[in-house]
Amino acid sequence: MNFNLIENSASCFALVKTYPLDMVYYSHIITVISSLMIGFFVFIKNKNSLMSRILFLMSVVFAFWILFSLITWTSYSSMIIMFVWYFFGILTGLLFILSFYLTNVFITKEDVSFSKKAILGTLFLPLILLTPTRFNLVNFSNVDCEAVEGKLFTDYYYYFGLFISLWILWIIISKYRKAEKEVKKQILFFGIGVELFLFAFFVTGLLSSLTGEYTSEFYGLFGMVIFMGFLAYLIVKYKAFDIKLLGTQALVIASASLIGALLFYVNDIGGKILIGINLLISLILGWFLIRSVKLEVQRKEELQLMSGKLSEANDQLRKLDNSKSEFISIASHQLRTPLTAIKGFISLLLEGSYGKVDPKQQDVLNKVYTSNERLVNLVEDLLNVSRMESGRMEFKFAPWDVNSICQEVADTFIPRAKDLGLYLEYKKTEEHIPEVMIDGTKVREVVSNMVDNALKYTPKGGVTLKVELGEASRYTPAKNAEVEDKGIAGAVVRVIVADTGIGVPQTELPYLFAKFSRGKDISRLNTGGTGLGLYVGRSMIENNGGRIWAESDGEGQGSRFIIEIPVQQTKELMERWG
Ligand code: ADP
Repeated sequence: MNFNLIENSASCFALVKTYPLDMVYYSHIITVISSLMIGFFVFIKNKNSLMSRILFLMSVVFAFWILFSLITWTSYSSMIIMFVWYFFGILTGLLFILSFYLTNVFITKEDVSFSKKAILGTLFLPLILLTPTRFNLVNFSNVDCEAVEGKLFTDYYYYFGLFISLWILWIIISKYRKAEKEVKKQILFFGIGVELFLFAFFVTGLLSSLTGEYTSEFYGLFGMVIFMGFLAYLIVKYKAFDIKLLGTQALVIASASLIGALLFYVNDIGGKILIGINLLISLILGWFLIRSVKLEVQRKEELQLMSGKLSEANDQLRKLDNSKSEFISIASHQLRTPLTAIKGFISLLLEGSYGKVDPKQQDVLNKVYTSNERLVNLVEDLLNVSRMESGRMEFKFAPWDVNSICQEVADTFIPRAKDLGLYLEYKKTEEHIPEVMIDGTKVREVVSNMVDNALKYTPKGGVTLKVELGEASRYTPAKNAEVEDKGIAGAVVRVIVADTGIGVPQTELPYLFAKFSRGKDISRLNTGGTGLGLYVGRSMIENNGGRIWAESDGEGQGSRFIIEIPVQQTKELMERWG
């Protein structure tokens, strides 16, 4: 085309290019390098991701754009200036399209639909077709030493950009509304990043085009690189590969290129050598830094992998545990019914409802009855555990007199004690024991179990049951190591079951209340049991707002099992079960 080109434009440039050329070079070269670096790194780290490919393309287009802009700033040939100026429309359009593409893929995690591609393509077509025409560039201005742009063409690509920016905004807002909380954050950050990127581009471009004052471009360029870096960061972050390593590598290269760029500005040999040494040192240090971060990242990845596997195994264990509890619950329910029937019929037999029973038969029936009782207790324990663990255990609070509960328990067990040749003494205090808000049935069950245990584990002597009023004791939680002691305060009603039995060794004390925990020497005594009674008992007492623990002076020295229930229950407890 026959433009008004001037071959030797030196005179014109001498007048116009009065800005500091160093500044032009520096700002442009650094932005080209950083933008390529960002795109390149994200691409290298994740070649298969569509997003990183788009960002890479974006960085290349952007780099070309800056490079061409640099040429227009620095070239002294009007022909070259005109040639590169032709491409600004196409490059700008491409940047907008790629931003749109990137946003779509980031948010939907899918490729852009065909219809959207068709719309973008159609809108972009005029830019391609009109690029080599006078619509794009009208002339070369000998006054400003720059191309004169066709108004229609520039208007078109700015409106095109505006349209796409708004479209992106619309996509972001509509997706943001529907997204879940965690995703909302991603969309918001990304949306801000991409809009700022476009805004910076738009404003710098538009302003310089409108005012002819192109120096504002410098700041816009830096802004764009920063926003592009931000987008890269988000892509990397939500793609879950390590940003730390990436960051370190980027830092090292950025600092090396900054130092390296100085080589162009220093003219004396001494200075160049110094900068060279500087560059070398920073590269070596950078290499070590990258290596150590890489190692750390690897270690972290290994850890993450392992913890992932662990939590998977844990999930499986939990599922197994749940199905086990469910199985126990079903099995126990099924077992309980026939056992109750057996108990009923034996009682009837013993009472002579089916005819006279001779003493020999009676003896056998008694044994069957006792064994059946043991089975009933076992099933009851198992049922309690499954209720407790599935949170199905219900508590009904009402004012209860602990004295009468203990009296009842003592009455029930006195015949057993007698049979065993042991004493069972119930020491009633003189002082008045106030009624407490508890689930009395549950507390009775626990006290029964304590007395039952005391009789079971006492070969000689006997058992004393006592109720008293006092201040909450300060006992050392270490005694029940695996149980966190929440502690209670104020006045308490204390139930003590003390025996003269086998006692508990100090080493076993902390574990008595754990599930299936049975003493080491129990087998010697030949007593039946599951190791569930105290485990269930602790939960029942704690749900009643109280504490339970065991004390013993050692093997053969007897034991004391103590329950404390606060006289004044907490408001939370009352609200929970009230
Ligand atoms: P089980 O009595 O069915 O074994 P428990 O949970 O009731 O289960 O008791 C757990 C363990 O605590 C018992 O196996 C026993 O070792 C110990 N233990 C409980 N009560 C006493 C006691 N009065 N004297 C000595 N050891 C006891």
